[in-house]
Amino acid sequence: MSHHGNLYSLQGESRTVGLPTVFVRLTGCPLRCGYCDTEYAFHGGQKMDISDIVAEVAAYQPRYVTVTGGEPLAQSTCLELLTELCDLGLEVSLETSGAMDISKVDSRVSRVMDLKTPGSGEVSKNRYSNIELLNTHDQLKFVICDRSDYEWAVGKINEYDLAQRCELLFSPEHGNLAATDLAEWIIADNLPVRMQIQLHKYLWNDAQGH
Ligand code: SF4
Repeated sequence: MSHHGNLYSLQGESRTVGLPTVFVRLTGCPLRCGYCDTEYAFHGGQKMDISDIVAEVAAYQPRYVTVTGGEPLAQSTCLELLTELCDLGLEVSLETSGAMDISKVDSRVSRVMDLKTPGSGEVSKNRYSNIELLNTHDQLKFVICDRSDYEWAVGKINEYDLAQRCELLFSPEHGNLAATDLAEWIIADNLPVRMQIQLHKYLWNDAQGH
């Protein structure tokens, strides 16, 4: 598979934010979100066997591993990689755009799936049939670019009764929407979501996943 390297860092987002985590970054993504911070992962990388990637991850002796991209599921062999990482006994998560079928992902994996908002420029790529596959082990993430994205996201939470299904994550688009504005909207509406700011951006100003 095509791979952009492993990195041992702190989880910047999601339910395991702040915990030391190995990131496995795979090459390629069929989307082009306006705010993407991992464009370098669209192309290039190194061809590596799954067994070699798994061995590299194991060498860190981590508790947590996140497979990210790009869009990891753009490579069909990602499914095998996820299963082999679970077999190591690690807590495995997958960051995915929401545009690809998630039904074949190993059930031990916590899927952190985006629902792309209109502000991303890629709302038409959402695969809504994925929603019914999500469960309490999974997380659904909205990157909110502005107030109309926020209202769109609230509409989707109500339409699909998402708060009953899985954990919900709201992130302000870094450098565009003020985090305090988003926080105040969430409080005013008493929304059942976890607001997150991207820890890695504050620590290192670097990219992590979607
Ligand atoms: S933000 Fe994620 S889904 Fe969007 S273009 Fe970048 S890697 Fe692809």
